[in-house]
Amino acid sequence: MKAHKTKVVERIELPDREAREANLDEAGYNVFNLNADDVYVDLLTDSGTGAMSDEQWAALLRGDEAYAGSESFAELESAVEDVMGFERVVPAHQGRGAENLLYGALVDDGDVVLNNTHFDTTRAHVANQGAEAADCPAEIAFDADADAPFKGNFSVDRAREHVERVGAENVPVVVLTITNNSAAGQPVSVANTRDAREFADEIDATFVIDACRFAENAYFVREREPGYEEASVASIAREQLDYADALVMSGKKEGLVNAGGFVAVRDPDLFDRVKQRAILFEGFPTYGGMAGRDLAAMAVGLREAVDLARVRDRIEQVRDLGERLRDAGIPLYWPPGGHAVYVDAGEMFAHVPTEEFPGQALVCELYREGGVRAVELGEFAFPGTDRPDLVRLALPRRTYSREHVEHVVDTFAAVADRADAISGLEVIDEPEMAELRHFSARLQPV
Ligand SMILES: *Cc1c(COP(=O)(O)O)cnc(C)c1O
Repeated sequence: MKAHKTKVVERIELPDREAREANLDEAGYNVFNLNADDVYVDLLTDSGTGAMSDEQWAALLRGDEAYAGSESFAELESAVEDVMGFERVVPAHQGRGAENLLYGALVDDGDVVLNNTHFDTTRAHVANQGAEAADCPAEIAFDADADAPFKGNFSVDRAREHVERVGAENVPVVVLTITNNSAAGQPVSVANTRDAREFADEIDATFVIDACRFAENAYFVREREPGYEEASVASIAREQLDYADALVMSGKKEGLVNAGGFVAVRDPDLFDRVKQRAILFEGFPTYGGMAGRDLAAMAVGLREAVDLARVRDRIEQVRDLGERLRDAGIPLYWPPGGHAVYVDAGEMFAHVPTEEFPGQALVCELYREGGVRAVELGEFAFPGTDRPDLVRLALPRRTYSREHVEHVVDTFAAVADRADAISGLEVIDEPEMAELRHFSARLQPV
């Protein structure tokens, strides 16, 4: 049962085949270079691409733009306290800004940070502090076929190995990312959260939750963890976040806004240090680089995030896309995560060698065939890391209908039909930093 109807619409158009060919060529076979106007269904990311509610748009108009102590900030504080259980909040312009504030205050040169899996910007901020980002995913996290309920979990065993290697005194922070974005958006159980918390206590580390998709995670707990069937998403989210000493949040995910983020902490001293860094990097601590109206919209968004009907719609839509693709014979990471479906392009285009980027070839083919934009997360994005050649289809929140999902599935079916005729790609121009190549490199068909 759909929990929303449409109040504002945006016209979209599928350019004809000839135009799509020309656009692809002009973009250097890199869909980051396409104009969004030329994309029919845009599944590049779920970050900041969703639709706001009428209540959020109303909050925008009431935004208080006072430099210090604005009413909109007070609304955000009260939403974070009610929904997430934290009294001390510092806004930031987006999630990575929040990471800079928090990890800059907690992590020093030579430290090691443990995380179920570091999201790219988290890893970069840990490295920026001169520290090592060590991943501790569950054994089955990267097994595409293991149908298990909580493949996003933190492995305490792996974490212990790292502590034995470097010594507890060098591990100031343990992070739990829920859902585990870099492990196909898989959820983390409440039991595992408790274990990770106990482990952090044992080594005297600060326990941080990266809460970007906290409500999606709570929905999975309700569905899959014994004892939570009757609990509300709001109460599960509170219970899970109650374990944390600090939170990092990107408003672009389950703040249900297009930009923004924040840090929340319990310790007053840490709060002071984070606020000092906010003044340096983001803005005065009651706005942190966000407009007052955006704080107000995010405050409303946080409350909407934990509405069962809202999050059910979301998870069911991602799952529906996954099930339809699987029925069409497309090889997938299973089960679908909270925000995206991951296609195994290496298997789908088995005749294209990894060094000719089967994932990127699929991404280009999806645009050529149906004006669909996806993103490659394999050899092209992460050169030489031996990652499987996955393509991610991330669904913006409250944006697309079942017809759009069907269009994506039809597009896949057409591409799969002529898979053998599709060739790989080669890079003809790339930026200096290899880590950033997939954002701007240009390619051509082999
Ligand atoms: C998106 C994301 C971030 C960073 O947030 P931005 O708003 O994109 O800067 C951090 N952690 C996770 C898990 C994310 O998904």
